[in-house]
Amino acid sequence: MSGESRRPVRVSKEELKTIAENIESNDGDASELRALLAEDDDKTEPSDEEYIESLKAQSPQYSGVGLKCQICEKECNETISGVCFACFREWALSTRRNQHGNQYSSHDRHLH
Ligand SMILES: [Zn+2]
Repeated sequence: MSGESRRPVRVSKEELKTIAENIESNDGDASELRALLAEDDDKTEPSDEEYIESLKAQSPQYSGVGLKCQICEKECNETISGVCFACFREWALSTRRNQHGNQYSSHDRHLH
């Protein structure tokens, strides 16, 4: 009875959720499964901070004394694409929101 080959079982997210719910409905502890599911969520949808970090990594950065932000005109020791981190953050978040909601605006058709 031990001749069966063992293959790693790929469990889908939905199945994982079902298993976690089953465990919890039996008063079990499914916190590890829940943690696994949460981790998976992080990978599919990056957080705002991760999004900002990835944009920052693609942008020219300068550090030094007497740099000035092109948006708020404050002096800062580090600029990303010519602006301070606070302004860069604002800009990054606004572009992210636009990416989500702007899909149809480029096809501005006039229907009569
Ligand atoms: Zn600024």
